[in-house]
Amino acid sequence: MQDKQMLMIPGPTPVPETALLALAKHPIGHRTSEFSQMMGEVTQNLKWLYQTHNDVLMLTSSGTGAMEAAMINFLSPGDRILVGCNGKFGERWGEVGEIYGLNVEKITAEWGKSLNPELFAQKLQGDKQKQIKAVIITHNETSTGVINDLETISTYVREHGEALTIVDAVTSIGAVNVPTDEWSLDVVVSASQKGYMVPPGLGFVAVSSKAWEAYKTAKFPKYYLDLDRYRQAAQNNFTPFTPPMNLMVGLQTTLEMMKQAGLESIFTRHQRLMQATRAGIKALNLPLFADDSCASPAITAVAPQKISADAIRTLMHKRFDIALAGGQNHLTGKILRIGHLGFVSDRDILCCIASLEGVLQELGWEGFTPGTGVVAVNKNLS
Ligand SMILES: *Cc1c(COP(=O)(O)O)cnc(C)c1O
Repeated sequence: MQDKQMLMIPGPTPVPETALLALAKHPIGHRTSEFSQMMGEVTQNLKWLYQTHNDVLMLTSSGTGAMEAAMINFLSPGDRILVGCNGKFGERWGEVGEIYGLNVEKITAEWGKSLNPELFAQKLQGDKQKQIKAVIITHNETSTGVINDLETISTYVREHGEALTIVDAVTSIGAVNVPTDEWSLDVVVSASQKGYMVPPGLGFVAVSSKAWEAYKTAKFPKYYLDLDRYRQAAQNNFTPFTPPMNLMVGLQTTLEMMKQAGLESIFTRHQRLMQATRAGIKALNLPLFADDSCASPAITAVAPQKISADAIRTLMHKRFDIALAGGQNHLTGKILRIGHLGFVSDRDILCCIASLEGVLQELGWEGFTPGTGVVAVNKNLS
């Protein structure tokens, strides 16, 4: 049905009407005081969301552009870095690093499992010459629905002293607690189409003073992604190049909404949505891809055994206009992923699981008693 599409993929995520209307406004000049005032307010609120006093810079890019910037501004060719790899986005960090000629050492875990912090501790404690220049962690691994123990890993990096902590918090910010300053996270990356409730197009990078120190000696060539340009322009609340000001105006409204709600309430809601989704899936006797102990509050991956994940997704879309994500790389066709990130309410989860019941029945799946998914969701939401 037209306009009834419900996005339950992990980005882009649904956009509230207030933000859609703000996005529809005429663009404004980006060298005006009107713009500067708006950008100042957005930046302040981004710092609130990131729980930081560090710079939070805005780039016109998707999350990957912000990832690349996070790498090339603070490192030099040949630098040794540790990259946590337990899914597609961790792998992406490795790929970017290798293309730039960094000495990438991967710390891996099976897809669907979380990274073992002790493996980082071993490498960091064994590095007496302080050659490791950065540790890169994907906090919520969106490709598998796994959350990594960033808090513990960041403690080990802090003890090392030299290495920077670079974090992909793309699906964490606005969903789960990421206290940038408290955990001494040096570079934290995110993007607008995830927890921020606005369309794709803005990338965010938070930068600590320690990272700015590293910037001074970093040797990769850079122009558009040179973060010092953004820092300098941001001192007067401007951007070095033409920004997507419409997105920023939309973001102004959603950040205001988030402030009204409060961080605790946002984190609690994502936790509740995750638990309700997982309870619903369990009641339908479909295997969850990640254990409860490392389940991401932003996304739930499901690995159906006897029915095709893609057949489920196709029918969910055809019958109920609900878009679910599929698996990536070797998980293509093997899992489906339910996004519950950003502008998602209790009703959306109830609706998703109820629809899923209908689809499973239509596909002839007899492994569950109709109605049990809905009951389980309601129990977890009340
Ligand atoms: C979405 C996402 C990204 C960025 O992807 P883009 O398509 O470039 O915006 C990076 N890391 C994670 C964990 C993500 O979920």
